Amino acid sequence: MITNAPRGTKDILPEQITGWNYIEDEVRKICAAYGYEEIRTPIFEHTELFQRGIGETTDVVSKEMYTFTDRGNRSITLRPENTASAVRAYLQNKLYAAGNLVKLFYIGSMFRYDRPQAGRLREFHQFGVEALGEKNPAVDAEIILLAWNFLKNLGLDELELKINTVGCPACRPVYRQKLIHYFSEYHDELCGDCKSRLEKNPLRILDCKVDADKDFMDDAPKIETCLCDECREHFARVQELLTAAGVEFKIDSRLVRGLDYYTKTAFEIQYTPLGAQSALAGGGRYDGLVEEIGGAPTPGIGFAAGIERILIALEKQNLIPAAQKNLDAFIVTAGREAEVCGFKLLNNLRKKNIAATMDFASRSMKAQMKQAAKSGAKFALIIGEDEVNENAVTVKNLETSAQNKISIDEVAAMVMRNA
Ligand code: AMP
Repeated sequence: MITNAPRGTKDILPEQITGWNYIEDEVRKICAAYGYEEIRTPIFEHTELFQRGIGETTDVVSKEMYTFTDRGNRSITLRPENTASAVRAYLQNKLYAAGNLVKLFYIGSMFRYDRPQAGRLREFHQFGVEALGEKNPAVDAEIILLAWNFLKNLGLDELELKINTVGCPACRPVYRQKLIHYFSEYHDELCGDCKSRLEKNPLRILDCKVDADKDFMDDAPKIETCLCDECREHFARVQELLTAAGVEFKIDSRLVRGLDYYTKTAFEIQYTPLGAQSALAGGGRYDGLVEEIGGAPTPGIGFAAGIERILIALEKQNLIPAAQKNLDAFIVTAGREAEVCGFKLLNNLRKKNIAATMDFASRSMKAQMKQAAKSGAKFALIIGEDEVNENAVTVKNLETSAQNKISIDEVAAMVMRNA
């Protein structure tokens, strides 16, 4: 039992790390290009932050949180997402004081007690961005473009961008009433969850996975008939800017977020070949969130993307770069004295940031040479009895098989010249 990691978690093994590092490097590159700065927040927070920041009626808060009481009797929760924490950090550290639009990004693990399956884990990793302090729809377009271009730059095709607007506290109540009225007629056909959503959070019925294909869904009222002028203009402007940037999108009127602090733009990017877990990234505007968490009213928008799912998509298209074996030198020794010389050389090379290794099992020279060839190192640095006496090293270039003897003091410079 203790040799199995908990259900829904995964080790990331050395052979898989290239893909992870690749994605993280690409995240940092694109965020630098768009002017987003990295933030790292604690893995756990006060439970109340997520109850308020995500909302008690959401599945994440009501069913999926890893919550425990710590030894000081506080209720603590492992973060199920990073937006609430980023907003908390923004307020606690007064990042708003500079008076500018604050643009943050994060990469890290999140925790949700969900039913594990391909592309759905209990510990998973997201990267995401948050822009706080600006209501201009240009920020919505910038964020969507960042997510879109990130996935496009990785080489993924069959991506689909879906956008929608969820209105604002001024116009959404009218839409809510329309939905309650409409779905009440189909009350008996709704799933159990949707029956309880009907009064509390009727927008969420629209993105229910269980009821998705039921006939009455297609004719549900659409929000566009209820939008106030401001929300209508905002949504039109986002579309205009995306079109100007040459990005194709679909309007999906069932893409919703049910809570009051979610406003206006909602979007999702899907990688269609992944079927049920096709959402690679999702986000939207949350102009009411900062206030909900205790700050002054501040507009905000962000998205999160799932790294495991992106990796599955990259694997499908064979887009993960090959691991680079970057060992420069493998030291081969014969005899106790040579081993000491080799160990000293190893240490000197490493001090100069040359990637070097040697065999510590005192195997035969032949076995060590085999190991050197397998290691991917560029050079075998051979030290036998003669070399010890001459203070020299026999250098074998493992790519060309060329071999020559040089002074031990020249080895580092030679490896560096040829690395
Ligand atoms: P969300 O925070 O629910 O909006 O999700 C944003 C993205 O995170 C999704 O589009 C997925 O790519 C990823 N994601 C969410 N939940 C999980 C999970 N349990 N396992 C793996 N990836 C997830």
